[in-house]
Amino acid sequence: MTAADPDPLPGTDTREAVRPRVTCRRCHRPLHDPESRILRLGPECRDPAERVPRHDVDQDPIPGLD
Ligand SMILES: [Zn+2]
Repeated sequence: MTAADPDPLPGTDTREAVRPRVTCRRCHRPLHDPESRILRLGPECRDPAERVPRHDVDQDPIPGLD
């Protein structure tokens, strides 16, 4: 009495295909967070300026400092 194992058809075992491994372009480590995967750069390899747009702009200079 042997249990009939259903043979997985070739091409149906798509566990790897569903989650393609994305690696960092710079250090070649596997990336897990979506933002890094899109950029293909790890958080530590991204430029800080590229990562977040700067909001701290120089305001009006304080008058009376000349
Ligand atoms: Zn990296």
